[in-house]
Amino acid sequence: MKALETNISLVKNVAQYTIQENSLSDFDTILNSLNISKGKFVLFFIDDFFKNNLNIYTNRDHAIRYVDTTNEPYTDKINILLSDLISDGINPDAIVAIGGGTTMDTAKAISNLYTNKGNAEDYQGWDLVKVPGIYKIAIPTILGTGAEATRTCVMTNKISGLKLGMNSDHTIYDAIIYDNTLSKTVPKNQYFYTGMDAYIHSFESLSGNYRNIIGDSFSEKSIDLCRKVFLSGDMMSDENRKTLMIASYLGGCAIATSYVGIVHPLSAGLSVVLGIHHCVANCIVMRSMEEYYPVYYKEFWNFVETNQILIPKNVCLNLDESTFDKLYEASIIHEKPLTNALGINFKEILTREKMIKLFKKM
Ligand code: NAD
Ligand code: ZN
Repeated sequence: MKALETNISLVKNVAQYTIQENSLSDFDTILNSLNISKGKFVLFFIDDFFKNNLNIYTNRDHAIRYVDTTNEPYTDKINILLSDLISDGINPDAIVAIGGGTTMDTAKAISNLYTNKGNAEDYQGWDLVKVPGIYKIAIPTILGTGAEATRTCVMTNKISGLKLGMNSDHTIYDAIIYDNTLSKTVPKNQYFYTGMDAYIHSFESLSGNYRNIIGDSFSEKSIDLCRKVFLSGDMMSDENRKTLMIASYLGGCAIATSYVGIVHPLSAGLSVVLGIHHCVANCIVMRSMEEYYPVYYKEFWNFVETNQILIPKNVCLNLDESTFDKLYEASIIHEKPLTNALGINFKEILTREKMIKLFKKM
């Protein structure tokens, strides 16, 4: 199918970013340079992996909330977190997220809700956030989702089964601090799964029907950098973690101007119905992607082998028909990426039967 050139209108990017090692050891200097002056109150969201092993040197008034990553963000959890913060009397001038996609997305959602009021589920969709949230800074500690660069924060609504973010310019971070010292401790398999999110976003976008030269350029470069990292033989070296940082950023920019493809909708099905985390779910979906993305399929499994990564298997074995129904429903609702990948008749191509065959390969 011929690629359709899409218009790009008024794309917003993160306004400021810095690459700085040991950034937390003199955090006030960074806050000053971002105009978060003395007297301003800073709320930190920190991945609870760092509960006992992270020192932030700041004299600002601040509060810390540790983010439990056992479950990826869901709307009820965000609503409860916000109401607890408000009843604790916390009224931040700036919000800082230190962690992966789960922590960064939690901070984005809370930032928007502080000023827009209401519940997280009210803003799941496109351009529903009316006013800017609280000023927010991302400090990624694991790399690949690009959550630090995108205009969304992904959340599952457990009642409606909808996995969808607050897609809005207001969701974009005001600043990113890339600090290579923070990603050293990521477990190997997790590092691979999250890193592959950048690779997968990018090839889905490059293989789609809706294309534009900016999205393509970001995607191509992100894929190049992923190849460097995942074919090097030491994917977690200092140099490679730095490279993956940039691949993650560019992958995030790519999806801000284009769409993903088939992997993400099926992965959302696995997350919503079986509770499998996003990045490992993407890798599991790759088991059934040979017919759609043959070249990237081959390359992906080569990365897996080169780095000796464990990708879970048979996750859909022994599921009953009603669970397959749920998997189908939770995947097929992702019309934009599926249209991007398969065209407007995607439901005729990706029938329930066909989709179940794909799930059974996982
Ligand atoms: P995550 O934030 O869920 O973290 C994964 C695991 O890595 C956790 O156990 C965490 O504690 C651990 N971890 C993080 N940093 C660590 C470190 N330095 N050392 C040791 N352990 C560390 O994972 P993720 O893969 O970054 O994010 C997944 C989430 O991102 C999903 O909810 C997904 O939907 C979302 N996402 C968002 C966007 C977006 O544009 N907003 C894009 C893609 C994915
Ligand atoms: Zn993703």
